[in-house]
Amino acid sequence: MNVMSYRAGSSRLPLRAAAFVVLTCTAILAISGWREWSSRDALLRGTETEMANLARSLTQHAEDSLDLLDSGVVGVVSRLEMDGTDPSTIAKLRNLLEVRKKAIERIHSLAIIDDNGNWLTSAGAVTSTLSDDEFFRHHKFSPKREAYVGRPIKSLVDGEWVVTLSRRFNKLDGSFGGVVLATISANYLSHFYQQFLIGRNSSITLVHGDGIIIARDPSNDKFVGRSVVDGALFRQSKLQPSGAYNFRSLLDGVDRVSFYERSGRLPLLLIATVDRDELLAPWRAAAISRMLYVLALVLLIAIIGAVLVRQLQRGQRMATALVEKEAHFRLLAEGSSDMVTRIGLDERLRYVSPSSARVVGWRANQLIGTPALAGIHPEDLPEIQAIVDALKRGEREEARVTYRNVHRQKSEIWLESTMQITRKVTGEVEGVVAISRDITEQKNLENKLETLATEDSLTGLANRRCFDERLAEEWARAYRDRSSVGLLMIDVDHFKAYNDEYGHPAGDACLRTVAKIIATEAQRVSDLAARYGGEEFAVLLPNIDAAGCARIGERIRQAIRAAGLVHSCNESVGCVTASVGGATCRPWLERTGGPGTLVEAADRALYGAKQDGRDRLVMSVEVFNLLPMASGQ
Ligand code: GH3
Ligand code: MG
Ligand code: MG
Repeated sequence: MNVMSYRAGSSRLPLRAAAFVVLTCTAILAISGWREWSSRDALLRGTETEMANLARSLTQHAEDSLDLLDSGVVGVVSRLEMDGTDPSTIAKLRNLLEVRKKAIERIHSLAIIDDNGNWLTSAGAVTSTLSDDEFFRHHKFSPKREAYVGRPIKSLVDGEWVVTLSRRFNKLDGSFGGVVLATISANYLSHFYQQFLIGRNSSITLVHGDGIIIARDPSNDKFVGRSVVDGALFRQSKLQPSGAYNFRSLLDGVDRVSFYERSGRLPLLLIATVDRDELLAPWRAAAISRMLYVLALVLLIAIIGAVLVRQLQRGQRMATALVEKEAHFRLLAEGSSDMVTRIGLDERLRYVSPSSARVVGWRANQLIGTPALAGIHPEDLPEIQAIVDALKRGEREEARVTYRNVHRQKSEIWLESTMQITRKVTGEVEGVVAISRDITEQKNLENKLETLATEDSLTGLANRRCFDERLAEEWARAYRDRSSVGLLMIDVDHFKAYNDEYGHPAGDACLRTVAKIIATEAQRVSDLAARYGGEEFAVLLPNIDAAGCARIGERIRQAIRAAGLVHSCNESVGCVTASVGGATCRPWLERTGGPGTLVEAADRALYGAKQDGRDRLVMSVEVFNLLPMASGQ
């Protein structure tokens, strides 16, 4: 993935998460606020219905009360119109009035007044002492026979405010005969209204059609008789017989709402007023506590959200760093000429850099998922496996190994791998990163150098240096094993003359042939044929007795001669021959001398062979006994 595009895409993630948290918090707050506002609305609507119903029933109550009064008044009026106003009739009616007054509690008083305004009789507190006789004047001057609901007036006897309901009665000639009056006390109404618990700052008021307050709860005494004719509500009620009216009290600055109902039949207006704040107080308290819970929840969500967003940011930074690290790793791995591989704990290749095609001949996608050690030469595998196991166990942090590996096209290559373990954040070993390079050329060069250092360039046999080393080694081994070492020194006869006769290059060719013959005869793995110097060769024969040594020496001598390389100057035979000196030794018995003793002995034997006439083998023991044995004749 492109690191930049990854960054651009993922850097918006915490921002989006933060936006989501803010959105969630805002949504919760908005939904809760809306729900509270809806419940407030529902409360107000419910109250409105409740109060409208209350206003309607109380208006009905006022109408019924006055109807009740009127039913009494109607009866008295018909009796008076039939029987007249003579004292006996009035006396009878007085009883009727008393009975009726007692029977109907809400009747404050009943009275009969003649055409001059004289009180003929009465029941209840009212006598002829009312503060106003407006109802009387109404009947006197109006021929209407309907019941008349007069303005509230004050009884001068008990100081009570009353509402009057009166009817005119006529004399037999149809002229004005007087008035039958019934009153209802403002206190009665006020007490009745008291039963309705609609709040501390609420009120129920009954108003006369003229705008005078008939009764009120609370503070009936203070308000009754007052006029509200100039009030906005009163004006509105004239246009609309029922409804709600919101206002702010001029007295206490409290918001109130009034529900009113105007009677259709009688001049009555009922107003029920509630304190809006008081009405909403329980809702407000509940809403505040609910909103506090919601706020706490939102705060919790915001805190958790903030923590998560920070973790997301941190995680994203880590992921970006990881991606960068991975990108850098790939950049380095893919730009490297060495093959970079990642090996999992299952020893399978997790990643292979593209240079694998050049190093081992397979493309990266052909190798990924395959066993990492599959191509290693079976001889090198155990060592590498042990190292990989140690790395996996965390016992080693890194290792450098050189081994043979298969190549897709070439037969075999040498690889040098630097292996290093990778760990997880927790410190656990995750796998191994190996950087491998092809060192075949280097290895070949090394081998070549090694050969050069130990091989004689002309004959291909071991050189003198190699011979000396091996002699020392075999001497030491024989010393340890209490075994013997044999040595043959072989010198071409009259070789100076051969050179002189056939030339130096021919001399070289002759030496190569002789060398080949010697090498063929030194058959055992531990045998070493070497060019000792010039036309002189040495054959080291570990673990051999004198007879064995002599046998091989003799075979060599005969083989050289049998090769039949023409040498005219070698007068006796006419072909190339060689003299051989042999010696065997048991180093553990030769406590004082070293390997040089054996060389000296063989050399002396060779000298003996030369002395004795050449083309023969002489063993050193025979030299010491001065009994050189000619074996080639
Ligand atoms: P003898 O039978 O006593 O060993 O006589 P010889 O002539 O073989 O011995 P001498 O030591 O007198 O001569 C050795 C000769 O071997 C001298 C030298 O020219 C020749 N020679 C030594 N090394 C080489 C070589 O590498 N190539 C050639 N062509 N000749 C060599
Ligand atoms: Mg010589
Ligand atoms: Mg010689």
